[in-house]
Amino acid sequence: MTRQIRAKKSLGQNFLHDASVIESIVGAIGINATDTVIEIGPGTGALTETLVKTGAKVVAIEFDRELVPLLTQQFRFDENFSLVNTDALNVDFASIVGKPEGVKLIANLPYNISTPILQRLIEQRHIFSTLVLMFQREVVERIVAKPATKERGYLSVIAQTAFEIEYLFDVPPDSFRPVPKVWSSVIRLTPKAAFGGDEGIFRKVVSQSFAQKRKTILNNLKGIYDAGGSMLDSAGIDGKRRAESLTLDEWAALTAAIKKGASETPR
Ligand code: SAM
Repeated sequence: MTRQIRAKKSLGQNFLHDASVIESIVGAIGINATDTVIEIGPGTGALTETLVKTGAKVVAIEFDRELVPLLTQQFRFDENFSLVNTDALNVDFASIVGKPEGVKLIANLPYNISTPILQRLIEQRHIFSTLVLMFQREVVERIVAKPATKERGYLSVIAQTAFEIEYLFDVPPDSFRPVPKVWSSVIRLTPKAAFGGDEGIFRKVVSQSFAQKRKTILNNLKGIYDAGGSMLDSAGIDGKRRAESLTLDEWAALTAAIKKGASETPR
């Protein structure tokens, strides 16, 4: 099919055209005909076409209204395909597929919404069995960053607490049209068992601890917790450390100490 679509930069539209990359991405999620798969941002249908051929139930969520006629036409004979024209940032994924668990998700994500989309996926991770996501490589480097590295930040800690993460491969700019300035990378996520602690406190403490990366964790936490020092002490964490040095176990211990003890004083 001729695709005379003018890519919209504002929606992060860089369409994949490299058949081997498409095969590798879809192959990475391991689909069979009984699966239900959500695709965020089908665009001109590059990944969708391969997904639909597996026979799985494919629910595509596309924000761009102008792509609806093209996608509807392209997949008009495929009963296993359906399209939802909406913003994936506002979607309750379980209700659009009518399934509370075991759902797979695939997405070549618009760069400008990678963080909020990842946050939504974390919040709703319990309905998914596997997610294969492509982001700008720099975003992936932050997602997989180990403690005490310069890329370690809020995104690394919340993503690694929620998922087992495998860094699969990099994709060069010339695999897309239009050609982006940057490389992309593909990761596979598998939700971890439920987080034992209070997720609200966890997200707040991690976010606040990274508020100013050059400050110590104690100085960052003082912004919201008067008793930041004693909470760090009871979690066995030296307040002079910086947030990027903490391991996932230490974040869990700090969350538990905050939940247990201290009164929070909003400022
Ligand atoms: N999957 C296609 C491919 O690989 O060629 C297109 C990928 S393109 C990088 C991102 C797609 O996400 C575009 O089709 C864009 O319109 C869509 N998109 C952007 N923001 C969105 C949002 N908030 N919700 C759903 N789709 C969105």
